[in-house]
Amino acid sequence: MTFATLGLIEPLLRSLETLGYQTPTPVQAQAIPAVLAGRDLMAAAQTGTGKTAGFALPLLQLLAMEGPKVTANSVRALILVPTRELAEQVHEAVRQYAENLPLRTYAVYGGVSINPQMMKLRSGVDLLVATPGRLLDLFRQNALKFNQLQTLVLDEADRMLDLGFSEELANIYRALPSRRQTLLFSATFSDDIRLLAGQMLNDPLTVEVSPRNVAANTVKQWIVTVDKKRKPELFVHLMRKGKWKQVLVFAKTRNGVDALVEKLQGLGINADGIHGDKPQATRQRALDRFKASEVQILVATDVAARGLDIEDLPLVVNFDLPIVAEDYIHRIGRTGRAGSTGEAISLVCADEVNLLSAIEMLTRQTLKRQSEPDFEPEHRVPDTDASGQVVKKPKKPKKPKASGGGGGKRNLGKWVDSGEAAPVEPSIKPVRKVPVFNTGPRKRKP
Ligand code: AMP
Repeated sequence: MTFATLGLIEPLLRSLETLGYQTPTPVQAQAIPAVLAGRDLMAAAQTGTGKTAGFALPLLQLLAMEGPKVTANSVRALILVPTRELAEQVHEAVRQYAENLPLRTYAVYGGVSINPQMMKLRSGVDLLVATPGRLLDLFRQNALKFNQLQTLVLDEADRMLDLGFSEELANIYRALPSRRQTLLFSATFSDDIRLLAGQMLNDPLTVEVSPRNVAANTVKQWIVTVDKKRKPELFVHLMRKGKWKQVLVFAKTRNGVDALVEKLQGLGINADGIHGDKPQATRQRALDRFKASEVQILVATDVAARGLDIEDLPLVVNFDLPIVAEDYIHRIGRTGRAGSTGEAISLVCADEVNLLSAIEMLTRQTLKRQSEPDFEPEHRVPDTDASGQVVKKPKKPKKPKASGGGGGKRNLGKWVDSGEAAPVEPSIKPVRKVPVFNTGPRKRKP
């Protein structure tokens, strides 16, 4: 199969040739003809499967071949994405695909001045990539109208809900014409999203190129158990031992990112961090330098790293496990992309056992455990498996106290199972998703 047999026009084929795309990926093979035929689409595909081209190519073709010229402050196709970085990345891909077409494309997102965006929109844009908050700001200030809108794409739709964009999305839908083509793309789909899609899409074609919620199978994954307070030390130890050259590291909070970056920089390690509190220009610069291998270790929160496409990234480290199990799949999807292999290592402490169990259940695998000499945890991480069980080892019977009181041996570590020091629920708590469309902002800037 070739891109030509999928029905793409010559100017797009020329762009693809320049980019070196020879064969359509499975998601592209299914999505491109369906979108060209005007169908609504609900597509679940693993990260790195080429889903951006799967919607962008046919969309550009429809814009070039059909419909009236775009008028002032109007937009004909809208791609909504959850983060600023993803907006830049998707727009860059769109720009490359549209190289030989007379179409105007643009990206708008928050964290930068709105005025240049308003100026740019004055003459109309054929295809706009946007984050929901800034799009609404522009709409409310009359810098944008949707009367010409023919296609809406929701990229990483589940993540948009996770980030608390449900209200913004509902407001955007209300402003859009009801007759339109809608494409829903996501690396993973929760049941909530499926429900939402049922309400939003009109007789959609479902495209699912990989088993639902299964982690990238080109990524070698394992965990190292460790006490929480020793994670930074273990990270540096593993980094030196493994001679890591380029690593994307995920931490749970902004403070966690800053603390690790500070520690690494203090040791003379070339590290930088990105999270929602940093100005957009700083985030983009750190990312660009990481991609150019000028920064060795990039530490990020989930929101900052969502959907990033970094070529040949060999290693992802989960310094903290994600709160939402599906984020694990997104995180490790940063490596092992487009057919290459990668590694994903998670540093797991006893507190995180329920998160670990939820990840194993979601990905239907028991992650291989490796203990690192000198870093074996005092607080044991209970055994887990893909069934969602957290196995609690029975307590060892207490030895009778040595007589003589204070003079006895203090060998507590030997016979008190250290796992007991950190109480752990025997069953996992359900990993929740935001109820569809009726919740306010949650964790806009983790
Ligand atoms: P995506 O899943 O859209 O983020 O794409 C992942 C990577 O695969 C990007 O770097 C794309 O440029 C690349 N890519 C997408 N489609 C193809 C293709 N058909 N052949 C080669 N590379 C591709």
